[in-house]
Amino acid sequence: MQTKCHPLVSTTLGTSRELVSFHFGDARKGETIYLQASLHADETPAMLTAWSLKQRLAALEAEGRVRGEVVLVPVANPIGLSQHVLGQFLGRFEANSGHNFNRNFPMPSAAALIERVSARFSSDDAAHNARLLRGALVDLLGETRAKNEFESLRLALLTLASGADVVLDLHCSLEATMHIYTSPASWPAIEPLARYLGANGVLLATDSGGQSFDEVHTLLWNEVRERLGEKTPLGAPNVAATIEHRGQRDVDYDTASHDADAIVDYLIARGVIEGQAKDAPPLAQPATPLAGSQQLTAPVSGIVVYRAKVGARLKAGEPVFDIVDPISDAVTTVKTTNDGVFYMRRAIRFVYAGAPMGRVTGEKAIRSGVLIGA
Ligand SMILES: [Zn+2]
Repeated sequence: MQTKCHPLVSTTLGTSRELVSFHFGDARKGETIYLQASLHADETPAMLTAWSLKQRLAALEAEGRVRGEVVLVPVANPIGLSQHVLGQFLGRFEANSGHNFNRNFPMPSAAALIERVSARFSSDDAAHNARLLRGALVDLLGETRAKNEFESLRLALLTLASGADVVLDLHCSLEATMHIYTSPASWPAIEPLARYLGANGVLLATDSGGQSFDEVHTLLWNEVRERLGEKTPLGAPNVAATIEHRGQRDVDYDTASHDADAIVDYLIARGVIEGQAKDAPPLAQPATPLAGSQQLTAPVSGIVVYRAKVGARLKAGEPVFDIVDPISDAVTTVKTTNDGVFYMRRAIRFVYAGAPMGRVTGEKAIRSGVLIGA
């Protein structure tokens, strides 16, 4: 295991932070898999899963079983981890700028990438073209100057992932069942992982409008492939996904071990780790469009009493939650209009009118525009 430290821009005199990455195996021998955890810093289940995975990868490497390279960043957001205001942990947005740590990643454009290496493309060697373009991506990112600590964190993460065949971004939700966000292009390659993890929902979107970490990788390689056309083959698979390791409080050894084992099983099935792949269990739920997810909101303010359990499979018309007004005695019931899985909900039990309350998967697209929340 190689450990690499990536210093971030220092925000104020006398302070410094760094990103630490762990590298297992050898990229020349097979695929490169990139995993990072807790880009939203207050999403701790992902960090514990990454720690479990780190122990497994160290043992597998010692046994000589890592065929390609696995790059692991178990603490992807040292800035967010330091943000505590009046006892509250604020890990989703950068306190100084208000920016969401997982939105609007500044990926170089496909045109710039192609322009840099187009004279050296091969007409029949897809792997050569992929290497060229990935090298160009690292160069372009290396030429970008980060103005502040926030930008330097994002640049370091993008650079670490830029050579990967598979990018897995480990997060969690507020109260949630295990679910995955990915693109239709990545889905066939992610499907075995969903089965090993026991994902209770898979949300598909090509462009959710958020420019999140996993999505900017997929979008870039989709566009590169489209611009190159059939004359220039490209070997890089554009596989990227965000894994939601249930809810923020689902932090325990058994769960983290289960998820780390599932990731190892996936890497074995993919051939990055030597071994006999376990049979993947059947998919718990079919993949559905992210645009089909119903976003429930609170019509009024009051005390929230959830009537549907997280992870429950609901039928259209079933109640999801009540809002109780202890002054007027009004009880407002909100029902789902989807047949689907109630895959995430809020953690706080008092709400304001208009608050987002939870999401239910659905097979038919009912939304457009930006498909993910702030
Ligand atoms: Zn997150």
